[in-house]
Amino acid sequence: MYQAEFEAKALEVLRSGWYVLGNEVKQFETEFANYVGAKHCVGLASGLDALWIAFRILGIGAGDEVIVQGNTYIASVMGITMNGATPVFVEPDEYFNIDASKIEEKITDKTKAILVVHLYGQASNMGPILDICKKHNLRLVEDCAQSHGAKFNGKTTGTFGDIGCFSFYPSKNLGAFGDAGAIVTNDDSIAEDVRVFRNYGSEKRYYNKVVGANSRLDEIQAGFLRVRLKHLDELALEKKQICERYLSELKNDKIELPKTREGATHIWHQFVLKTDYRDELIKYLDDKGIGTIIHYPIPPHLSEAYQYLGVKEGALPITEKYAKSVLSIPLYNGMTSEEQDYIIKTINAF
Ligand SMILES: *Cc1c(COP(=O)(O)O)cnc(C)c1O
Repeated sequence: MYQAEFEAKALEVLRSGWYVLGNEVKQFETEFANYVGAKHCVGLASGLDALWIAFRILGIGAGDEVIVQGNTYIASVMGITMNGATPVFVEPDEYFNIDASKIEEKITDKTKAILVVHLYGQASNMGPILDICKKHNLRLVEDCAQSHGAKFNGKTTGTFGDIGCFSFYPSKNLGAFGDAGAIVTNDDSIAEDVRVFRNYGSEKRYYNKVVGANSRLDEIQAGFLRVRLKHLDELALEKKQICERYLSELKNDKIELPKTREGATHIWHQFVLKTDYRDELIKYLDDKGIGTIIHYPIPPHLSEAYQYLGVKEGALPITEKYAKSVLSIPLYNGMTSEEQDYIIKTINAF
C-alpha cells in the first residue's frame, strides 16, 4: 500500500547523500511526538534498544527490581535484564494486560519501576497503575511496541510515565522496512540523555560524555515511517472495522473472543482469541488454508533463557494458561471482505 509514496521517499533519501541522523529523523521525531502528544521523541535502532536504553537512562540496574506482566513478548523482559535488573512477574487481567490489583503484593524495597506493556494493541488500566507508582515512588516505563496511538481515557499510551518505548519493526502497526524504534518522553533531560546515549555518548563529534551505544535511526527508515504515519489513522480504522466484524460475527462456543476495557482503546495489533481446543483449531484452520500464530507459546519465565531467574512452572497460572490457549487469527491491512467472510464462516463451523 502507498507504494508510489514509499518509492519516491526511498529515491529522495538515496539521492540526498545523508543516511544517518539527518533531516528525515528530525522531522519524524517531531511528527511522532505530536502524534502521541509527547514533548520529545528520540529515534533509535529498535524497540528492544528503546527498552534497555530507557532503564539505563533511569539508572535502573543490578540489585533493582522491575515489575512486568508475565505474558509479554520476551523483549520486554530483556530490556530489564540487559541492565542487570531483575524482572518480577505479575499475572495479566482478562484483557491480557497487567492486572493492576496484583501489583502491590509484588513491591519490595528493591522495586524501582513498573514496565507496563499495552499488549496486542490495547491500552492498559492506567488509573490504578499511576496511583501505585505515585504511592510507592516508582518509575513508569511503557512498552508501546504494539500500541501506537492506543489511548486510555483519551490519553495516548507512551505518555503516562517517564518514558514510552516504541518499536517500528515491519509487522507493527507503524512499521518500517527494517528495524527501527524510538522513545517518547515529556522530560527534557531524559530526552537529552537518550539523544547523547544513542550516538556513542557524544553530543559533539569525537567528544564523548558517557559510555553510550550505537542505536541510531536510519534516514531511510525515518522517511518511510513519515509516509506511513500520515496514513496510520486510516490503516488503524481499517483494522478496527475488520475486528468489529470478527467480534459481531464470530460465534462458536469453543472460542472466547477478546474484550476491550471501558475507557481503553484497542488498535488491534493482533486479534487474539482463547480456546481450550487450540491444537485442533490450528490444524483445522491450516487444512482450510488459514494461517494462525500463537502470541506467545512460552512465557518468558519458562523460556530457557530465563531459567536462571528460578521462577518455576506453576508460579504464574494465568500467564501459563494463556500461553496454552491464545491464538491470533489473520488480521492485516488490505484483507478483502471475501477473506473475512471465509475466515468467519470457517471458524464458526469448527
Ligand atoms: C516487537 C516488540 C518489542 C521489540 O521490538 P523490536 O523492534 O523487535 O526490538 C518489544 N516489546 C513488545 C511487546 C513487542 O511486541
